[in-house]
Amino acid sequence: MEDTTINHEVYVRLQTDLLVIGDSIMTDRHHASNGNYEEDDPQNQIGGIIPAFSLSGWLRHGMEKVVQKRGGTACHPGEANANFRKDGVYNRDLDAGYHEKGACLDDDDDTGCVILDLFGGFGNRPGKVMRRPIQFSPVRSSVDYTRGQAEGHYRRLNRNVVSRNGEDNREPLRNAELDAVGNLDGCWHLSFRETKPEFVALLAEAIDFLDEHQTDFMHQLGGARNFGGGIVDCDLVNPLYEEHELRRVFDRGKGNTSKMDKKDDRWKNEHLPEFQTALAERVEDV
Ligand SMILES: [Zn+2]
Repeated sequence: MEDTTINHEVYVRLQTDLLVIGDSIMTDRHHASNGNYEEDDPQNQIGGIIPAFSLSGWLRHGMEKVVQKRGGTACHPGEANANFRKDGVYNRDLDAGYHEKGACLDDDDDTGCVILDLFGGFGNRPGKVMRRPIQFSPVRSSVDYTRGQAEGHYRRLNRNVVSRNGEDNREPLRNAELDAVGNLDGCWHLSFRETKPEFVALLAEAIDFLDEHQTDFMHQLGGARNFGGGIVDCDLVNPLYEEHELRRVFDRGKGNTSKMDKKDDRWKNEHLPEFQTALAERVEDV
């Protein structure tokens, strides 16, 4: 059999025209703007960080769907005894493809279902996939894709919320400012603390699912879906690629080498099917 050891480090390519993160984006303004941010100045050189929380929730939701499509149930992300605002929400979810968080653990099996294994969180157990934030910069030459970075342009969006009452003549009620990243293209870096074939298969299938459902309200990324933000093209970068090949993916002037094409074939025809078999068994097991 061919070498099927899988890299602990995997990368997901994310591309989007506009991303607004609900929990906000941390900006790094000290380079050029020196605190004097003019939103219409094309010279703005502001980079920043997209926190991992939103990315993680988006991915987890995609993975839950994959498990459910395969006939399994996913660990509920919330504690059973949490105070849900609406009565019956938890039970309704349990009927719709979830099991109670941690119910998949028992005495002789303490890894639980594949979602719990990956994301952790029950009784302080750490998840086996580490989700990192994405650092973005408007200067492409300074973006290091192998470190999970992206080209992206910080934008502050202003929204005037106006009165809808006719007598008010569209008088502005308040002005809302949103932090956004425009024209994002880069890498989300995920590290497996422990690699299992089913983890990689689940990641690959979830990224495909999210890409196919990128315009579905439920599967957009971030917190501004109503404004067309968060529609994301996503693609798992072939885990067989070496670093120079990963960089080449983002080089608009260069295409795949024939070595990369061969790796793509090997990934699709040999590795992925094998990992998917492991995932099928794991999902069946619960
Ligand atoms: Zn579970």
